[in-house]
Amino acid sequence: MAGEPQDDCLFCKIVGGHVPATVVRETDTTLAFRDINPQAPTHVLVIPKAHYENAAALAAAAPELAADVLRETRAVAQDEQLDSYRTVFNTGSGAGQTVWPAHAHVIGGRGLEWPPG
Ligand code: 5GP
Repeated sequence: MAGEPQDDCLFCKIVGGHVPATVVRETDTTLAFRDINPQAPTHVLVIPKAHYENAAALAAAAPELAADVLRETRAVAQDEQLDSYRTVFNTGSGAGQTVWPAHAHVIGGRGLEWPPG
């Protein structure tokens, strides 16, 4: 069911404490942790603790939770003292989504070009 933890979900295992991660922020509804393969000096993932397949599913089913995630991306940027940063939701394999629960990347600490690849 939408929002329920999935046994085969990597990020649900991180939320449950079964897979280690470097957690930088936590709220009742969200978790923020450092990406295992950082693409910039700051590369943090912000996820809802509830499982949704991607940002589109999250936005459709739980827009208030999506807002919680977005609010936490800002908090991460503030904690990391980033004046400029990029918030990315890769949605679908064609856009580079490789892990299937919804997650926001917060990327900063270096210059970022546009458009992305
Ligand atoms: P996507 O490609 O789906 O937008 O982003 C998935 C992200 O999850 C990638 O940046 C990848 O490096 C990160 N990732 C994959 N496995 C792990 C893991 O076990 N721990 C952490 N912290 N990040 C992971």
